[in-house]
Amino acid sequence: MINLQAIPYEHPAWVEVDLAQFKKNIHAIRAYVQNKKICIPIKANAYGHGLIPIAKAAVEVGVDYLAVSCLQEAILLRQAKITCSILVLGPIYPNQIIHFINYDLDITVSSITKARYISDAFHQLQCSQAIKIHVEIETGMQRTGIRIESSGELFDYIEQCPFLKVQGIYTHLATADDKNNAFTLNQIHLFLEFKEKIKLRFPKAIFHMANSGGSYYFPQSHLDMVRPGKLAFGYYQTETALTSPIFSIKAHVSYFKVVKKGQGISYNHQFTTSEETRIITIPIGYGDGYRRSLSNKGWVLLNGKRYPIVGMICMDQFMVNIGQDSAYVGDEVVLVGKQGNEEITLNELARLCDTVSSEILVNFNERLPHLYLDTNYSYWEFNTLKASTFKEASQGL
Ligand SMILES: *Cc1c(COP(=O)(O)O)cnc(C)c1O
Repeated sequence: MINLQAIPYEHPAWVEVDLAQFKKNIHAIRAYVQNKKICIPIKANAYGHGLIPIAKAAVEVGVDYLAVSCLQEAILLRQAKITCSILVLGPIYPNQIIHFINYDLDITVSSITKARYISDAFHQLQCSQAIKIHVEIETGMQRTGIRIESSGELFDYIEQCPFLKVQGIYTHLATADDKNNAFTLNQIHLFLEFKEKIKLRFPKAIFHMANSGGSYYFPQSHLDMVRPGKLAFGYYQTETALTSPIFSIKAHVSYFKVVKKGQGISYNHQFTTSEETRIITIPIGYGDGYRRSLSNKGWVLLNGKRYPIVGMICMDQFMVNIGQDSAYVGDEVVLVGKQGNEEITLNELARLCDTVSSEILVNFNERLPHLYLDTNYSYWEFNTLKASTFKEASQGL
């Protein structure tokens, strides 16, 4: 276990990511989906957890695929020497194709136009290697993907291009967050029917469609591979706890004071003390991604107890009312995660902010140092490759 007194650079607030639990989550999913192939979506900085450490942990437990949204994310992975198959889920543009080829990335093809981009680049660059593609089929998300009725022409085109290797054929579920959802059942039905027709032509293709909801609620959607994101990170809400959260935010109390009755707290005095009380200051704010809409609504944990945020959250700090209880500068508070028997979950914050937990997560930024429990290294900057071991970081001080 890392000594928490030794937080890198003594920054008073930090994120903790439990990589050991992340690996347990993947094992649990693998057992649950009965050893189907696993693709872990790690777009948007691995849902805010940090792209490279999460990718490495996923590779260590033998996932079959990593999926990202865009070329830039995939290149970061390759530059970090991640050799696992990488599927880029998002759209492609002609001037990107050369990089997809050079970095050995699986490309999503969702129209004839996109297939032509690849074919044109292949010929222009006089490539010799095959190019791996996954064809995305539209079954109800209405985002990207070719309609089943127009896909015949695309597949004919692909078959005329021997350098296009169909690694996979996939679709995306729009409404899979409750059991027996009729629309999801229909999407599954459409895709299975389509699969029966097309699989003879592409016998090696991996068919996949299950996001977290599909993976958890719809076994018939597992097919050859599942793509659970939220479920792998442990905050997809399910009836039984198949996986657990791996993300916490902690901080050290930066200030303590006693405030008299009738005093306004923070900008515009949106909270006024109703009696003499004790107020502590927490050194994190919306400049770190801690949402301003938690002003006068959110909570922190101190000594295993919940205390309310009072007044507006500032860019770098906010205040908490601890009533008649005591606290000391330097005490550890938990903003997301567990302390004693209490827990503040991302889902709770999401409800208070009227959003989804993924949005809360991806908003935390690089000002908060990230501490990765289980590998003994800390990772400082998001979306860059300046990972260093904690030891090296300390020596640099
Ligand atoms: C983001 C994404 C997923 C994962 O979604 P979760 O709801 O986090 O499980 C799977 N497939 C595609 C195409 C995605 O864009």
